Amino acid sequence: MALLEIYDLAVHYGEINALKGVSLQVQQGDFITLIGANGAGKTTLLNTLTGVVKSSGGDVFFQEENITDLPSHEIVKKGICHVPEGRKIFSELTVEENLFAGAFIQRDKQKIHDLMEQCYALFPRLAERRKQEGGTLSGGEQQMLAIARGMMSDPEILLLDEPSLGLAPIIVEKIFEFIVNINRLGKSILLVEQNANLALQVASYGYVLETGSIIMEAETSVLRTSDLVQKAYLGIA
Ligand code: ATP
Repeated sequence: MALLEIYDLAVHYGEINALKGVSLQVQQGDFITLIGANGAGKTTLLNTLTGVVKSSGGDVFFQEENITDLPSHEIVKKGICHVPEGRKIFSELTVEENLFAGAFIQRDKQKIHDLMEQCYALFPRLAERRKQEGGTLSGGEQQMLAIARGMMSDPEILLLDEPSLGLAPIIVEKIFEFIVNINRLGKSILLVEQNANLALQVASYGYVLETGSIIMEAETSVLRTSDLVQKAYLGIA
């Protein structure tokens, strides 16, 4: 049974056909990446999965339940967490308060405490800075906080939108190591990236999105050797 199944998903913004029948599957424990250029429709796909953008066709199933038309807060409760592009942490709140905010669907205090300890174990830097305001953190630390806040909903799957955006290469590598560790905890990952080079190294299976359509999908080891991917996404002539 697939964890997340997307069938023939279409999205229109007025006249613009941003997704033109996208199908994609994530199994329990998978690390999947969706690569594509600026404007290919990657963010639109994640926003549609989490109910922020309405689809104009197709279906989304999560654990065999059709969730296509569910509101966002119901989708989070099902176990799908979206870590948006640009981090969007609460800059006036401390690290700890940001993490609490991520636990808004949790009622059990002990569970919130355990999830917070898990976040601090995953990201020791955040533990050191737990009383610091989010806005005073470096870009890399803010990205860690955005991911950790997502983990506070104890999701089955994390949808990560461009975690590499605007960060120095050495920091990006670190962030990707954290994501690999999260996957090792058993969380499924759907990673949307323009940084195809790194995404294809860490994920096991990948999809290539071009102007709203999946033009290729395969094991990442296969994608890395594809002429098309090398020329268009890896900068190899
Ligand atoms: P980026 O890397 O810039 O986030 P992307 O692959 O995530 O790119 P989307 O942001 O999903 O791409 O955009 C897909 C297409 O839909 C683009 O042509 C974009 O201009 C258009 N689009 C996105 N959001 C809207 C919107 N709210 N209204 C109108 N058009 C939009």
